Formats: sequence, structure tokens, C-alpha cells
Amino acid sequence: MIPLVLPAMSDAESPFVTRLRSGKGLTDDAWDSLMIEEDGGGVTYAGAGGILAIDGATAKALDGDVVLVQPRHGRMERILRAGSPHNTLLVTERCDQLCVMCSQPPKKTHVDRFAYLEQACLLAEPGLHIGISGGEPSLFKDKLLSMVERVLRQRPDLSFHILSNGQHFAEDDVLRMRDPLYRRVSWGVPLYAASAPLHDEIVGKVGAFDALQDGFATLLMAGARVELRTVLVSSNLAAMPNLSRFVASRLRFIEVWSIMQLEHIGFAKGRWRTLFVDHREHFGMVGRAIDWATMHGVRAQLFNFPRCTVPPAYRGIAIASISDWKRKYPNVCFGCSEQANCSGFFEWHPDEEARAMVEPL
Ligand code: SF4
Repeated sequence: MIPLVLPAMSDAESPFVTRLRSGKGLTDDAWDSLMIEEDGGGVTYAGAGGILAIDGATAKALDGDVVLVQPRHGRMERILRAGSPHNTLLVTERCDQLCVMCSQPPKKTHVDRFAYLEQACLLAEPGLHIGISGGEPSLFKDKLLSMVERVLRQRPDLSFHILSNGQHFAEDDVLRMRDPLYRRVSWGVPLYAASAPLHDEIVGKVGAFDALQDGFATLLMAGARVELRTVLVSSNLAAMPNLSRFVASRLRFIEVWSIMQLEHIGFAKGRWRTLFVDHREHFGMVGRAIDWATMHGVRAQLFNFPRCTVPPAYRGIAIASISDWKRKYPNVCFGCSEQANCSGFFEWHPDEEARAMVEPL
């Protein structure tokens, strides 16, 4: 796994954002920290923020990274990794749902980092597509939208993908989100079933389904770009064809429907036996859902489904969905002709189980 947080010491008193440079490339005196020393233990930089000594990494690995340094905590966080298409900003750990399979169980507290994250985005490499997640980012909707708008105005080359439960949009957001800036924003919104009782049960919140329908109406009126997301769990497997009919008839405006396999972490780890659907044995309902959506003009894709584990007819839509820093492949995968296009497994997926599932193509 690629570490996103590293031990770091600095003489600065307050947190600061900086871009790490090992000597090559354009530099910005105000925001760049230049390497002054490297040894077997780590790298030392100097910049306007102060002296920064990072342990456990090389200058080559860090060159160009935009980081948030937290001197009092003795650490730095790689907010945007140079050369990686998988960068996600965590804007809050608070959430108003409690999904049965949540991969990152929410916290009650919120640490406001919007100003730092905004600065990091302004230092991003050209053309970067930046993810935003939580918790529930739209609990801080005004700060979130204001940050996104300021960044997009100053950086016409950047774009965002924001995960949100879609329940906090209001009618007065329509005008705001019709701004052409929002063509560079897409929303990843989860819907787990076409019926309120089942969706609400999965997300652990009464009224979530109804609030989400209002949210979809707002997003539709705003002309928003939406990626619909459905995590497969044992309780919604049989309901997938019905959900597909709902999507094809009521949510035709979405750009794509991502059907996602479970992540072996967070709440799902402890509930794995009751939640996990082995799609190798139970692909029928998923396949019917995909077929119906496709026939009605809704593009569907599979996330976190290793290619060799799905029927050949659906392999083309099983995409390499897992971010590079948390993706792994069992040894037998090396040599598989499909590896470049395959999701592989999350780093935290049990090795034995992963090995037993795969069959190189
Ligand atoms: S063998 Fe490995 S790389 Fe090939 S499709 Fe299966 S999981 Fe993916």
C-alpha cells in the first residue's frame, strides 16, 4: 500500500500546505519546499512554511506532491500525489447516515480543513481530476460549493468528482449549480434500492429515500452530472432488477450507474458473512439489472469486480476502479492478460480469499 500519511517534523507552529520539489520543475517561492538533504531515513525540505523533515520516503517518491504539514501532530498528509489519477480530499468525517457496510464509519466531530484543501487544489498538477469524499461532504454544503467554485474559477484545467448522499440540496441551489463551472463537477450519489424501506434500512436512516428523490429532482433541474452508485449487499441482491427498472424509468438523466462490490473494511468487515454476495455464484440478478439498464440507454459499469470473476459478457464493464494506493493483486495475476484493466482487490481484502477467487485470463 502506498502511504498517504508520513511522520514529519517542522519548525513551523501552525499547519501549512506546501508542494515538495527535489530540484526539478518550475517552482513557486511562496508555496514550494525545496529538498536540501536526503539520506536513508528520509528527506529534508526548506520553504516559506519552514523546515520540513519527512521520514520513510524518498525525494523521488515525493517530488511534486502537495502535502498538508501538521507540526504539532508530527505528521504530513499527501493531499495530492504527483502523477496519480487517484487523489481524494476528505472534507469531513461526519455523516448523517449509518450505512450497514460503511467503509469509513463516521465520527461525531468535524475538523474544518477547507482552507487547506483549497490551497492544495490551487497547487495541483495541470488537468487533475480530484475526488471529494467524507463522511457526508454536503453537510457543509456552502463551504464545499464555495471552495469548488473558487478553485474552478482560478484553475480552468481542474475538475471534481464529489461523493454525496444527495439529500441536502435545496431548490435555491438550482440556480447556483447551473453555472457553467459545474460542468466540471460530477456527483457520485448512492441509491441501494427502488423502495424506501429497503434503501432506508441499508443506509440506517428513516426518510433517506424520500429525501434523496427530492435531491435527484434538484440535481436534474440544475443539469448536474450524476454517477449513480449501488453497493451490492445480500439484502439488495434480489432487488437489483427492480432497481434497474426504477433507474431506467426515473433516473435516465444520470451519466452512468456504478454497481459496486463490497469493501472488506469498516462495518462490512465485521458483517462480511451476512453482507457479502459472492457474485461468481449469484451474478444472475446483477446481470439482469445491467441488461435492463443497457437496453434502456443507461450505461452501467462494475466497480471492484475482478475481471476473471464475472461472466465474459460483462468483463468489458468491470473497470479498474480501485485507487492505486489501496489496490493489490494476488501473485497469480502477474501474467494475466487483463491485469491492466482489472480492479484487482482492496489492500485489506483477505489474501487467501483473493487467491481462491481468481483465475488468470
Ligand atoms: S487474474 Fe487477477 S488480474 Fe486477471 S482478471 Fe483475475 S483478478 Fe484481474
